Amino acid sequence: MTEHHQISITALDYKADRKKAKHPLKIMDVSLRDGHQSLFATRGRTEDMIPVAEMMDQVGFWAVETWGGATFDTMHRFLNEDPWERIRTLKRYFKKTPFSMLLRGQNLVGYRNYADDLAKAFVERAAANGMDIFRTFDALNDYRNFETVVPAIKASGKHFQGCICYSMTEPRLGGDVYNLEYFVKKARELEAMGADSICIKDMAGLIAPYDAYAVIKAIKEAVKPPVHLHSHFTSGLAAMTHLKAAEAGVDIIDTCLSPYAYRTSHPAVEPMVMALLGTNRDTGFDIALLARINEKLEKEVMPKYRHLLADNQMSIIDINVLLHQTPGGMLSNLVNQLKEMDALDKINEVYKELPRVRKELGQIPLVTPTSQIVGIQTVNNVLFDTAEERYKMITAQVKDLCYGLYGKTAVPIDPQVQTKALKGYPRGEEPITCRPAEILEPELEKARKEIGNLAADLDDLILYALFPVTGRKFLSWKYGKEQPPAEVQAKTLEEALAEQALMAKARAGQLVEKPGVKEAPVKGEGLRTFNVFVDDDYFEVGVEEVGGAPVVTRVQPTATKAPGPKTPAKTIVPPPPAPPKATAAKATAAPEPAKTAAAKPKAEAAAAADAAGTPIKAPMPGMIINFEKQVGDAVKEGETVVILEAMKMENALTAPVSGVIKAINFRSGDSVPKNAVLCVIG
Ligand code: MN
Repeated sequence: MTEHHQISITALDYKADRKKAKHPLKIMDVSLRDGHQSLFATRGRTEDMIPVAEMMDQVGFWAVETWGGATFDTMHRFLNEDPWERIRTLKRYFKKTPFSMLLRGQNLVGYRNYADDLAKAFVERAAANGMDIFRTFDALNDYRNFETVVPAIKASGKHFQGCICYSMTEPRLGGDVYNLEYFVKKARELEAMGADSICIKDMAGLIAPYDAYAVIKAIKEAVKPPVHLHSHFTSGLAAMTHLKAAEAGVDIIDTCLSPYAYRTSHPAVEPMVMALLGTNRDTGFDIALLARINEKLEKEVMPKYRHLLADNQMSIIDINVLLHQTPGGMLSNLVNQLKEMDALDKINEVYKELPRVRKELGQIPLVTPTSQIVGIQTVNNVLFDTAEERYKMITAQVKDLCYGLYGKTAVPIDPQVQTKALKGYPRGEEPITCRPAEILEPELEKARKEIGNLAADLDDLILYALFPVTGRKFLSWKYGKEQPPAEVQAKTLEEALAEQALMAKARAGQLVEKPGVKEAPVKGEGLRTFNVFVDDDYFEVGVEEVGGAPVVTRVQPTATKAPGPKTPAKTIVPPPPAPPKATAAKATAAPEPAKTAAAKPKAEAAAAADAAGTPIKAPMPGMIINFEKQVGDAVKEGETVVILEAMKMENALTAPVSGVIKAINFRSGDSVPKNAVLCVIG
């Protein structure tokens, strides 16, 4: 079992003598799923996979990962593509290489546990549409969440790959929870469930080379199924880790074609092919074929995605993982979320609060969806908690986690947090200990009634059942009931290239002068800047919070006209955005002279509007899931009125006062900015 842990050079003249290796390292290509999910926000379109599909089929990959994870969500939501159709289409080009998908256990390809009937139907349909290998994981490594999907995978005659999510609480392997014994125990559990292979899923690029060596060697010695390593490059460790894994006898690793590789994605395949050339673990791959694939990708495909590449830093690695043991992708999500909420200055508090929240929530691994659950709750705590009260705004998902709906956490959840989260929880205040899906009512028939004829077949119905709001929207595009918006349309290569040329011109200053952006003065730590427009006058107002109360530090009238181009003619400047009412009111409340009097009527108008009722405002940008109340309904203080989805987490917004719903300003599915008045209680 361990005879190949030593890598030996078997041939020195590679060209003349490249015999088949004794234990070739098998490789799964993940470019078409995790590659673009990691680098391009999962925006890869099927039409951009086809040009290289037949060549990829010739490489000799153990499998290609083509589906699962975020693809299902992103495709129907942002690309106006039917996710089921992708498998069928690609299957026409990949004639011999098996397809692999990432399956989030009972979460399927979504963010919560689904009922057994839906889980079973999903696996059966995925298999029928062409999926061969089901890489299955559970965010909590609670394999009771595999109990429904595994028999469905097996009954379909497909390969069940069981995952162990790699997690840590210390800078390296060890500690009380995620130590060597833990990983071996999990591997044994998977073997007992009938795993055809076992994957160490290092979704955050945490695993260090020598830890991978130790873990793989120990697992290889303990169980029979082949061992597969999935490690992201994020922290810069993964390429070294791959080599040590090969030495430890790993059977399969994941790589990307080089245009889809590195950064938060995976190491590239080509260097690995060269590193092992002529050894007993030679992949046998033709490097020239790989080069031809890459050339085609670089010329015909990548220009369409370049703009999605995060290029705001020089480094292609993110050492946050090494510092915080936290997935890089999760941290960049947090940064984006804070940015949207104008609270980027709180990032250090978030770093500090995160391990604490994670521990209180049961020291769970950080992987979709738990990384979002912990991340968003941490941001909520940092933004909304007060000195007297923690966990002021608890997301619906944290409540579900506390109830036991995701499964068993690695260590028990903090009882105080749990009690608070479950106060008034509709399923009950006492957490469950059984397999979570046991308490879920079947969903398919209910979904069928809701969506009716808009779902033409079972695949449509499953899509709707998994994603009710965006799924319905997609189906109405698919069947011509609604026109898909421009932003979901595909971009041609010509358009992409023209756009890039335009951007380059703009950056070189040949296109348009940047509107009058002023040099910022020295700012304090907590400074926040607001633009205030009063008729034709424009003010930039710096607001800095001191001891909790907003204090205006600076009110500075700028150019009388709204900022405009310095050069006349040919330049087009968009009109300044309308002033958000709340901001204008806040600014005029400041005891500062210049021009504030002019804004008074508007402040009064805003106050008058408030007097007509109490608004519920969006505390963060997001999408309305639904209103639990209608206009005219009576509500009690603390009752849930609207569910707002932000960063894929649902937040229940409650009535701040008792009264009657006077107005509802949005519909289910609408995107709303921060502070949008969602409804008014009078
Ligand atoms: Mn991954």
